[in-house]
Amino acid sequence: MQFIDLETQYKRIKEKVDGRVISAISEGKYIMGPDVISLEERLAAYVGRKHCISCSNGTDALLMPLLAYGIGEGDAVFAPDFTFFATAEVIAAAGATPIFVDIDKDTFNMDAIELEKAIVKVLEEGRLVPRMVIPVDLFGQTADYKAIDIVAKKYNLLVMEDGAQGFGGTLDGKKACYFGDVSTTSFFPAKPLGCYGDGGAIFCDDDELASKLRSLRVHGHGADKYDNVRIGMNARLDTVQAAVLHCKLDIFDDELVTRNHAAKMYGELLKDVAETPVVPSGMMSSWAQYTIKLESEEKRNKVAELMKQMGVPTMVYYSKPMHLQTAFQYLGLKEGDFPISEDACKRVLSIPMHPYLDEETIKTVTDALVLAIKG
Ligand SMILES: *Cc1c(COP(=O)(O)O)cnc(C)c1O
Repeated sequence: MQFIDLETQYKRIKEKVDGRVISAISEGKYIMGPDVISLEERLAAYVGRKHCISCSNGTDALLMPLLAYGIGEGDAVFAPDFTFFATAEVIAAAGATPIFVDIDKDTFNMDAIELEKAIVKVLEEGRLVPRMVIPVDLFGQTADYKAIDIVAKKYNLLVMEDGAQGFGGTLDGKKACYFGDVSTTSFFPAKPLGCYGDGGAIFCDDDELASKLRSLRVHGHGADKYDNVRIGMNARLDTVQAAVLHCKLDIFDDELVTRNHAAKMYGELLKDVAETPVVPSGMMSSWAQYTIKLESEEKRNKVAELMKQMGVPTMVYYSKPMHLQTAFQYLGLKEGDFPISEDACKRVLSIPMHPYLDEETIKTVTDALVLAIKG
């Protein structure tokens, strides 16, 4: 059994993908070819934004807006303590200081009340200037933008949505990557919408920001390629990857339906044995992961081991919170600083989730889990 079954997906779209990739190669426009331009138009329309700037990966997608806004030394940028490392990494890479925020125990996403507390603390200390908050749409579910936007407005902070896992999810009918001043996603193969390599995208409505981001993507170009007006990066999406993404976007909505069907079945079959994901009303998840919580760290590790013995793959996303990462030791944070996030790290377990789970496989997974949890 596979944790994420990209093979079955490829079989479904093989003819189209192969054809489109070969055409892209035959046309010879390997860099910023027509498929890149048309993909950006399609993606912007899909999420409901004016601009889409495709790029090299989800990490560069987060870094470029920080550079565009001139966020760096002396600035505080707020991020959830429970996320993939890249969310916090880019803040430090830009020269700013990451300020971690604890999460909501049910949704795994940033807690807006904790965000306000963290902002007030930074203001009281007076060392850093609060500039931006980066809520993460963890495991496929958007952050609580309604509550976060209120806090961000009150303290005049920019909001950047990290939608690397959220792409396809919705909040009050609005798609992930619609939220905040700027939003980003990743097309890493295992994400809800993935390509066959690295890729990412940035979305915004502001024309000036969009033009800065397009410049940053190609060495800070000005009027042309050899006119360089700022220090940028080389962060383009390959035409071949855009060709793949076109084919995957064609079936994406259909895949969201089957992912949600699988999640519903998991929920029904597991509700009596574990804490299953909570999807607040008004939200639809894209189920980047299906993550349950067990009663303790010991139990979680035991269940993971038993599942492995039964041939069912599981993963722990994430076993270490940001504030306890070696790379962030310099911030001087310690165990106990973010109790909800630390508790999640000890008790989470993600089980197979993808659009090609048939009912028999779902039953195999849940039967094994029930056994493992009882054992
Ligand atoms: C995967 C991921 C990223 C980084 O995306 P890459 O394409 O791997 O660089 C950033 N944030 C979150 C929450 C992610 O899951």
